[in-house]
Amino acid sequence: MASTSASTHTTLPPELHALVQTATDILSTLPASDPPRLTDHTVASAALAADGRIFTGINMFHFAGGPCAENVAVGNAVAGGISSMYSPPSPSAPKVLLEAIVAVASQGRGVISPCGRCRQLLMDYWPGIKVVVQDEDGTLRCLEIRELLPFAYVPKAFTRKDTVVG
Ligand SMILES: [Zn+2]
Repeated sequence: MASTSASTHTTLPPELHALVQTATDILSTLPASDPPRLTDHTVASAALAADGRIFTGINMFHFAGGPCAENVAVGNAVAGGISSMYSPPSPSAPKVLLEAIVAVASQGRGVISPCGRCRQLLMDYWPGIKVVVQDEDGTLRCLEIRELLPFAYVPKAFTRKDTVVG
């Protein structure tokens, strides 16, 4: 199996290490872009749901603003039946939320942090989600999304009674 980076150290639990490896493995299957930057896929993401399923996505670079890999992965999760904080409650189908997510970049860059837009999206839909990030020394860490978005903007339309904001 490919490693995320030659200098990567990890103290992650096995399920999060597997998440990193899933995203890393996807990168090796992506076609090269020719010419570059027109249809460029340089990042893969994997999201872990509470039921153990892993949903994946890749970025869709486009000059008009294609989605990040994390956006595609969480969209796939919702399409696969995963709930968010804003899914209506159902007595017959309890909510299964996303618990963790990671993005890995091509060309040996390893785990990368989510951009600001992705941080806001993750915070709004899954305020309890954890994000795997990489320290400057290459150590993989798992942080709460709130740690990545302090003093977050919370749209009023997204505020519900069962949402813990703060
Ligand atoms: Zn992003």
